[in-house]
Amino acid sequence: MKRGFILIVYLLLIVTIAAGACAVTNRVFSGERAERGGNGNDGKQKSAYTASDRFTRAVKDGNAQFVPKHPGVKNGQAGNTKIPKPVKDDSATVVPPVPIDPARPMIALTFDDGPSQETFRIVALLKQYGGRATFCVVGDRIERFQDAMREAAAQQCEIIGHSWDHRNLTKLSDAEIRDELVRTNDLIHSVSGQRPTMYRPPYGAVDDRVKGISAQEQLAVVLWSVDTMDWKTRSADQTYKSIMGQVGSGNIVLCHDLYPQTADAMERVIPELAQQGYQLVTISELLRASGKEIVPGEVYNRANR
Ligand SMILES: [Zn+2]
Repeated sequence: MKRGFILIVYLLLIVTIAAGACAVTNRVFSGERAERGGNGNDGKQKSAYTASDRFTRAVKDGNAQFVPKHPGVKNGQAGNTKIPKPVKDDSATVVPPVPIDPARPMIALTFDDGPSQETFRIVALLKQYGGRATFCVVGDRIERFQDAMREAAAQQCEIIGHSWDHRNLTKLSDAEIRDELVRTNDLIHSVSGQRPTMYRPPYGAVDDRVKGISAQEQLAVVLWSVDTMDWKTRSADQTYKSIMGQVGSGNIVLCHDLYPQTADAMERVIPELAQQGYQLVTISELLRASGKEIVPGEVYNRANR
């Protein structure tokens, strides 16, 4: 009887130990599975911690998100994923076109002579009010403010050239004109992913020779229908009044994103235009929505609507 009792106690002890071991094994395996599923690595790198251990540590640190332990692993990407270079190809930056209602009024705000520090403010305002604009950039400024261009492109703004160094194209040789256009467009493409189909000549200066070269380079020439004179007045109030006093559907509005006063004016202009029901679109969008084909070598200054 006494021997039988000892045997029962002994068996109970074995069962208890076995159950405990199973629970530990389960936790370790599920932890490894969670780690592999969690950060997508191929399982070659083994962590010293289970996923739940690390989660507990993260909670302790005040960060309850899953924190991958391996350097270079971020938000579910494998550790050997290459960080994309700033220079992108077309496919990486193609964004679905934003639907435009051709029946509603629309305006193309355009900003010359940048990019600059002011470009960031203008893009932020466009983002806030769901608008887009066209930035006519000077080639030799692009590198310094390439982040501004990327933000503009991410907001589906259009980026076109405004020559390499703001020279009057009519005074240059054929080769020089070509160089001003091509160099600027190549850099726009490598920084923003966009391949411009038009450009704005400095001072609006074009003649038949410049138009001919533009046609050969597959570029249309775009001017404006509303001149804010913001570069001259340097007054937010006057720029605001100039736009609101002249604006109507189909207009291409000339501004310059070099001046803080122009960005100040946009803080009133952009919300008011949006409130009045204007769609703030790019030049290409304005022309296409108005049934205009964009033909290389042709000059455009507004859309009839
Ligand atoms: Zn200019």
